[in-house]
Amino acid sequence: MYLRDAFAYHGTPVHTLTRIAAVTDEGAVVEDATTGERRTIAADSVVIAVGFAPVPSMAEELRGRGYGVFEVGDGRQVGNIMTSIWDAYEVAHTL
Ligand SMILES: Cc1cc2nc3c(=O)[nH]c(=O)nc-3n(C[C@H](O)[C@H](O)[C@H](O)COP(=O)(O)OP(=O)(O)OC[C@H]3O[C@@H](n4cnc5c(N)ncnc54)[C@H](O)[C@@H]3O)c2cc1C
Repeated sequence: MYLRDAFAYHGTPVHTLTRIAAVTDEGAVVEDATTGERRTIAADSVVIAVGFAPVPSMAEELRGRGYGVFEVGDGRQVGNIMTSIWDAYEVAHTL
């Protein structure tokens, strides 16, 4: 919510339904997700901040050895500090 306000305040363009296809000396080549049409957004620097995915943990390996194993937090599903704490709270109740 804060970022939306900040982008609007600073007049930062937001391109939805758009994926980055390449980075060139001219800038970022982006592709319209619906039409596939490509164009270049001129830039000196391109910062890629496209999110996170959990790294497969060693949970399955440990489960197979008879341990009680519980996955919490970003290792289970990427979220935030609150969702990680809730996860751990729920698991702690089952122990
Ligand atoms: C740049 C950034 C900004 C963020 N800002 C916010 C924010 O403002 N508010 C918010 O709520 N959330 C924010 N988050 C998300 C939040 O940091 C995470 O959701 C939260 O830290 C997940 O907690 P976690 O305990 O699951 O994992 P982590 O905090 O990542 O802790 C996992 C720990 O395990 C350790 N570890 C990993 N593998 C091993 C291993 N094999 N052996 C031993 N130790 C290991 C790691 O070193 C790490 O210390 C942000 C995340 C990022 C990346």
